[in-house]
Amino acid sequence: DSDPTLRPDPLPEDFDRALRPQMLDEFVGQAEARSNLKVFIQSAKQREEAMDHTLFHGPPGLGKTTLAQIMARELGVGFRMTSGPVLAKAGDLAAILTNLEARDVLFIDEIHRLNPAVEEVLYPALEDFELDLVIGEGPAARTVRIELQPFTLVGATTRMGLLTTPLRDRFGIPTRLEFYTEDELFIIVDRNARKLGAPADEGGAREIAKRARGTPRIAGRLLRRVVDFAVVEGNGRVTRELADMALTRLGVDRLGLDSADRRYLRLIAENYQGGPVGIETMSAALSESRDALEEVIEPFLLQQGLIQRTPRGRMLAQKAWTHLGMAPPKPRAD
Ligand code: ADP
Repeated sequence: DSDPTLRPDPLPEDFDRALRPQMLDEFVGQAEARSNLKVFIQSAKQREEAMDHTLFHGPPGLGKTTLAQIMARELGVGFRMTSGPVLAKAGDLAAILTNLEARDVLFIDEIHRLNPAVEEVLYPALEDFELDLVIGEGPAARTVRIELQPFTLVGATTRMGLLTTPLRDRFGIPTRLEFYTEDELFIIVDRNARKLGAPADEGGAREIAKRARGTPRIAGRLLRRVVDFAVVEGNGRVTRELADMALTRLGVDRLGLDSADRRYLRLIAENYQGGPVGIETMSAALSESRDALEEVIEPFLLQQGLIQRTPRGRMLAQKAWTHLGMAPPKPRAD
C-alpha cells in the first residue's frame, strides 16, 4: 500500500547493501582468495558437510564481511553475524551457537577482540561441535555438554598478530586480503556508479579508482561524494575533471592520501627529520590510538612504499619526501 516515492531516502547502509556483490563471480579482485574459496565451497557442497572454519585478515574495507556473506549464499546456508567486543559473556556465544542450524555460517568480526572466557568456550565448539557449559555456582556447579550442529565459523580481523595461537590454529582456511589494484577498483566504481543511477565517464571512474587508497569501501564513499558534486555543481556527469575537482576539495590527493595520512607523514618529516620514530610517540603526537595508526593508516603507506618499519621505529621513504615536496635532511657529518 505504500507509495515508493513517499519512503524516506535509503540509509547509507541500504546503499551499501545494494552495492555489495552477492555471489563469488560478482566479487572483483582478490583473485587468489576467490579461486581457492570456490574450490572449498564446491567441495563442502558435494560432501554435504559444513565448510571448514575460515579466517579473513587484512585492512578494513577490503571485503571480509562481504566474502563471509557470499560464502553463506554460495553454500546455501544461513548467515549469523556478531563481533568480538559484542560477545561479553560465554553465555552470549552459547546462545548464538545453540541456535545455529546445520552448516550455517557464523561470522565474528573483530575476532581478535574476543574476551578470553568466550574464546575458551569457542575452542571445543570449533573442534568437536560441542559446548561445555557450567551451570550453577560453587559446590553445586556442574558442567553440561551440549551437542551443536556442525557450522562454519568465519572470523575477520584487521590484526592477525593479536590473535592467540590456539584460536589461529583452529582455522582451516586462513586467507589474507590484499589492497586492490587501480584496474580492479575501476571495475567496482564503474559498476557502483551504474547501480547508483549516475554512470561515470571512463576518466571519472578511473580518477576515483586511482585515489581510493586500494580499498573498495573508500571507492564507494568517494563515488557518492563525487556524484553529489556532479549533481550540484556540474551537469550530473562524473567526468575526470569533475572527479579531480571534487576529490581535491575533499582533501584526497593524487596518491589517494587523506588529511590523516598527510599529517602522519608530515609529523615524521617536520618533527623527526624523517625518523626513525616509535609508534607510541607518533600516537601521542597525533592524538590517534596506536591501533588506528597500525590498522588503518600504516598498511597503505607501507604498501605504497611511503614509509618503512624498522626495529627502531617508522621512517619516511624517499617517495614520501617527494610527495610532500620536501627535501630529506642532509646526512650529518659525524
Ligand atoms: P571489511 O569487512 O573488510 O571491512 P566489507 O566487506 O564491509 O569490508 O566491504 C566494505 C565495502 O566495500 C562494502 O560496501 C562492499 O560492498 C564493498 N566491497 C568490498 N569488496 C568488494 C569487491 N570485491 N567488489 C565490490 N565491492 C566490494
